[in-house]
Amino acid sequence: MAFLEVKKLNKYYPIGDDKQFHALKDVDLSFEKGELVSIIGESGSGKSTLMNLFGGLDSKFDGEILVEGKNIGSYTEKQMVQYHKEKIGFVFQSFNLVSHLSILDNVTLAMTLSNVDKETRMERAKTILDQLGLKEQYNKKPEQLSGGQKQRVAIARALVNDPDIIIADEPTGALDSETSEQVLDIIQQIAKGGKLVILVTHSERVAERSSRVVTIADGEIIDDKQTGPLKEVETSFSLRSLDEKQINKNLSIFSAIRMALLNMKEKLGRNVLIALGGSIGIMSIVLMLSLGRGVNDYLTETMNENVNPLVIEASMTDATESEKAKKEQEEKEAEKSKISEPVPGLPGENSAGSQNSEVEFAGPPGTGAKLPFEEENSKELEEIKNVKNVTEGFTSFSFTKNAIEFEDESYTYMNFGTVSPDITSSNIIFGELPKNNEVLITEGLATSIKTNPADMIGEEISVKIDTGEDTLESMYTISGIFSPGDSAGPAGIFDSVFMTMETFEALNKESDKNIEANVLYLTSESEEFTKEIKNQVKELGYAGSSADILTDIFSQMLDIFTYILTGVAGISLLVSAIMILTVLYISVVERTQEIGVIKAIGGRRKDIRRIFVSESFLIGLFSGILGVGLAVGLSFVGNIFVERIFDATVLHMTPAFAVAGILVSVLISVLAGLLPASKAAKLDPVEALRRG
Ligand code: ADP
Ligand code: MG
Repeated sequence: MAFLEVKKLNKYYPIGDDKQFHALKDVDLSFEKGELVSIIGESGSGKSTLMNLFGGLDSKFDGEILVEGKNIGSYTEKQMVQYHKEKIGFVFQSFNLVSHLSILDNVTLAMTLSNVDKETRMERAKTILDQLGLKEQYNKKPEQLSGGQKQRVAIARALVNDPDIIIADEPTGALDSETSEQVLDIIQQIAKGGKLVILVTHSERVAERSSRVVTIADGEIIDDKQTGPLKEVETSFSLRSLDEKQINKNLSIFSAIRMALLNMKEKLGRNVLIALGGSIGIMSIVLMLSLGRGVNDYLTETMNENVNPLVIEASMTDATESEKAKKEQEEKEAEKSKISEPVPGLPGENSAGSQNSEVEFAGPPGTGAKLPFEEENSKELEEIKNVKNVTEGFTSFSFTKNAIEFEDESYTYMNFGTVSPDITSSNIIFGELPKNNEVLITEGLATSIKTNPADMIGEEISVKIDTGEDTLESMYTISGIFSPGDSAGPAGIFDSVFMTMETFEALNKESDKNIEANVLYLTSESEEFTKEIKNQVKELGYAGSSADILTDIFSQMLDIFTYILTGVAGISLLVSAIMILTVLYISVVERTQEIGVIKAIGGRRKDIRRIFVSESFLIGLFSGILGVGLAVGLSFVGNIFVERIFDATVLHMTPAFAVAGILVSVLISVLAGLLPASKAAKLDPVEALRRG
């Protein structure tokens, strides 16, 4: 049995319109180890086609190619990869060295793909490079070498895995005659060393140096003659084979990342620009999230400042009302289904909803307008553990109808409230808390009437209160001026008027109205219970204080706002994803030859995909880190400015935002890289090498 045997080999190339080109016609050949075979023939006669078939770069053929008796046409992908790794070494006319890898990395590439340990890799590559006279060139890049040197590197690469067959397609085609001789010497030595060398050549002189010349014309073997034994040469190639275990491992992630890094370094400028482009999107998103968080923190903090820690406010809005009703309905239904089958038209069905229909005033949905309380509400709240007492109050909020009149001038104020336990004398900068028929007004409202707010004390004003349905009006004396301090509660933000609940009830009676309390103030027995009581109040379905409601509304608005801005920032992410996609596609085109080489020396599709995905992963990682870095820097600078103006920071970046930013960047980049990577993995090696 011959070492390499070809039986009735036919090759057809499809050339469109269901036509085929018959490139090889019934080729029968057999070769043994130790032969140096020259294949000669006119250009286009089928020499490269034959080599590609021998080398397993092209598996579509009719007939048989038997290597040690096994037909390589029936190999699985895995077996073919192994064939490339163990049996075949390629030498090409155009060298096909990977330009961004050093000489040493080029030669070790095949072993890197097999994940051979670094020490073995280096030792073998150096041994073979030394034998080929390239001792001083390890760390040079291919373009720094002469043609002859490049071809010697390519030969080193072909030999380093100690294959049985060396296939050289016009190895001297790009070399001058002197360097050709040197390369031929080496090739001859390889054959002498016991390998089967098949080389394609145009040159008579090259053919003369081989042990056998096969002539091909129009896809047919027309001559096959022995040209005598090989000239005696000193054989100096002695590499022991790698053991099987070493060869069958796969490219490690680490090596893939290293290869990606080397390629990115080669195109540094371009990659820096992409990372920069991608980082802007990440930066904007992180900044938006930080801004949302910062403003929210600011609001919550200031809203809760200067509030009596013992007082918990409970109110009902149309939202809480319907929620309460729904809850009751659910409870009732759950109970009913426990007792008996549902009875149609049971009057109890609607009783829960009836509370809704009795409601006298319901503000526009979602505005947080408060509803009046019923007897049962305050009872329910009184029963909460650790509540010392519950007092009723009334607040009204209006942008236009709440007003005071003084000396025939009208001044609108927005917030009316009865004096709650929250308002203590510490908030009163001039005068005192209001008694019967007296009111307290905020500093801002007072200064809009008189420059010195203290001048308003003792003055008589007419107060209009919008209760939702009616406007009540009466005359009162100003007892004091309220300063909210740093509080951002309603009285801290809006002009406000306060009177006692008794005064308000008297006004009610006087106006023949029966307006019920719409807020309850729960006083906790001790500060430690406040939080728990607050939770219980919420659990029972009530809204918290006006400040709480306002904070909620503001943070909801803020959330929407941040989401929109983040969405806009997200568009820039999309743009960078498309950019990465494009650049990687370009990279695939640029690296076609490299991909061909990797496939020829036994790289699996998976390995190639891994190299490209690593590259997009790295781009994502860099732009993520850069984006987060920029966001950190900008929020630092931004906060300094904002702090000068508002005395607070508004960009609160958390580690979670930073991590999320980097993760999103990596994810988007890897996703964008998948398509080009699989395109690269699917490249046909013959095509790839031809183009290279
Ligand atoms: P050589 O290497 O001897 O110059 P090739 O083996 O490259 O010749 O090509 C042999 C013949 O097959 C040529 O006529 C060429 O045009 C044709 N051929 C090679 N590759 C393809 C292909 N992919 N599709 C169609 N025809 C091809
Ligand atoms: Mg050719």
